[in-house]
Amino acid sequence: MSEKYADLHVHTYYSDSTFSPEEVVKTAKEAGLKAIAICDHDCVDGIAPSIESSKSYDLEIIPGVELTVEKENNEIHLLGYFIDWQAGWFRKRLKVIQKDRQERVYKMVELLKTKGIEIEPEEVLRISGRGSVGRLHVAMAMLKAKEIRNLQEAFDKYIGLQKPCYVTHIKFSPKEAIEMVLEAGGIPALAHPKVMGKDEFIPQYIKYGLKGIEVYHTDHTLSDENRYLKIAKENNLIVVGGSDCHGLGKGRVLIGKVKMPYSAVENLRKESIKIKNAKIS
Ligand code: AMP
Ligand code: FE
Ligand code: FE
Ligand code: ZN
Repeated sequence: MSEKYADLHVHTYYSDSTFSPEEVVKTAKEAGLKAIAICDHDCVDGIAPSIESSKSYDLEIIPGVELTVEKENNEIHLLGYFIDWQAGWFRKRLKVIQKDRQERVYKMVELLKTKGIEIEPEEVLRISGRGSVGRLHVAMAMLKAKEIRNLQEAFDKYIGLQKPCYVTHIKFSPKEAIEMVLEAGGIPALAHPKVMGKDEFIPQYIKYGLKGIEVYHTDHTLSDENRYLKIAKENNLIVVGGSDCHGLGKGRVLIGKVKMPYSAVENLRKESIKIKNAKIS
């Protein structure tokens, strides 16, 4: 039997992918995947429609989320796998974050105005359409208004971290995010640690309850993979990996370009059962 694979980091248009859940599922199936984890930024609204679509494709959907947290002006992304995504308290908390994301768009648009860039916040919200609005949507609005030549230019000049029009997210610490995922019975895993570039924070996250690390990611080189694999082994962290596919939002469709043997899904499932059982007893 041929080996089965899973892409454990995929977005839908409920955050900043251009793909609907149906398109995500179809593309994943065409890429030969057995399972995908839906990990939208601060949003779980894409999970139910993905599960619905997957029924006609024999594809397993792992419910996930990618939480945005900030620490000392660094942006950190925390993945949560096998979360109880239907829990009312969990969804309510995400709605608060989503509302703040909308307000953040208005602030970024104001800052862009001071740099001579004219876009309407309503247009950004319209491009986003639903769920979590974010900087990729701001960049898309800028491109549409011909204020930039490509999406990357928006980040490099204006809305990238520490650029003049960047606005921080709602105050949410790594500890709170890790605890939120655990409380929802999920596995907290550090997303694309290379992109954060702050390996020295990892021991602290492990103390808070971090259980996994995204060793394999589109933006990781072989040497990054080796470094994070070592950290995972030394600290008994579950190794995860995925493409971070944003549909056409990042130029090309990445789904399945980074994938894990299906055993990674089994590891996550086992650990999530342990976490859920520990909560009951
Ligand atoms: P937000 O959640 O609104 O902070 O936006 C995060 C999104 O912007 C993610 O999809 C990132 O991949 C993307 N992003 C953040 N920084 C950059 C950058 N420097 N270049 C390209 N994309 C970026
Ligand atoms: Fe994104
Ligand atoms: Fe991310
Ligand atoms: Zn992502």
